[in-house]
Amino acid sequence: MVKKVTKKKVAPKKVAAKKPTKKVVAKKTAKKISPDAQAIESLVEIIRVTSTIIPNDVDRAIRKARGEEVSNTSASYAMDIMCDNIELAKTKSQPLCQDTGTVIFYIYHPPGFHQTPFIKLIHKAVTQSTKLGYLRQNSVDSLTGENAGTNLGAGHPSIHFVEHEKKELVVKLMLKGGGCENVSAQYSLPETTLGAGRDLAGVRKVILDAVVKAQGKGCGPGVLGVCVGGDRADSHAHAKRQLFRKLGERSKIKELAELEVEITETCNKLGIGPMGFGGKTTILDCLIDHRNRVPASFIVSVSYMCWAFRRQGATLDTKSFKLNKWLY
Ligand code: SF4
Repeated sequence: MVKKVTKKKVAPKKVAAKKPTKKVVAKKTAKKISPDAQAIESLVEIIRVTSTIIPNDVDRAIRKARGEEVSNTSASYAMDIMCDNIELAKTKSQPLCQDTGTVIFYIYHPPGFHQTPFIKLIHKAVTQSTKLGYLRQNSVDSLTGENAGTNLGAGHPSIHFVEHEKKELVVKLMLKGGGCENVSAQYSLPETTLGAGRDLAGVRKVILDAVVKAQGKGCGPGVLGVCVGGDRADSHAHAKRQLFRKLGERSKIKELAELEVEITETCNKLGIGPMGFGGKTTILDCLIDHRNRVPASFIVSVSYMCWAFRRQGATLDTKSFKLNKWLY
């Protein structure tokens, strides 16, 4: 006799809800995955966290600034909206801003690390993150305007490798919005129209000029990364690298540390305020460093970062590529 086989009713699989608020250090997976697959998983997680969760130091600075604005003013409403956005993005694991920006990686690696295969893994992680919506399809061909839809193209993502003496791999990521990039500036001193000479007083004048010109644009309150000196290319890159410093981390050079504090205080007395609506918070911080220059030139670069300050970093195991520790 043939037994009648009745189909077991299988309960629909429950998809485990993501916990976006938690910065998961390493996902516990039942099966072992290859180092390449693990690298992509870790890189996607770094991109997700960078795009959706504001770093703790910036979060603290924004909430402190909100507390300082007078209630029921445009400035306080603007700060409230920013804080709501920050919460929403974190809870829903959605990008903090629709412009997920230029994708800039800095990879600090021990000697002997193979860069070329890692570039391929970064490309895969960027493509996957774009599919998952952590990155908007945001990178277009500068000549044709064509959008490949993957965020891959000439020079994008921007990847910088730096060899260091440590055994670990450090991946830092910045998502630099277009609006704040547009108001970033570069000056060649002396700048006669501003009366800015080749000294720190001149540097101060051009930084303040950049902030005044940025008002109402660039989605303030901003953070300034500044480089004094260098050639035009390295100066701007180094100014942008200052944004990897934690807010409040003062320069080790006394004169620059003092200038950082003074610029921040002065900017916040200009009355430009959040989004240019007036108020007490024009910038959250100013981070300055310097580079040698040739006697014939004195370049000052100001990299402006908007309130949607997306930068993160993590250490990874160099063999397994498992994510060990978050940096911010
Ligand atoms: S400047 Fe920043 S906050 Fe403004 S639209 Fe661009 S990424 Fe978003």
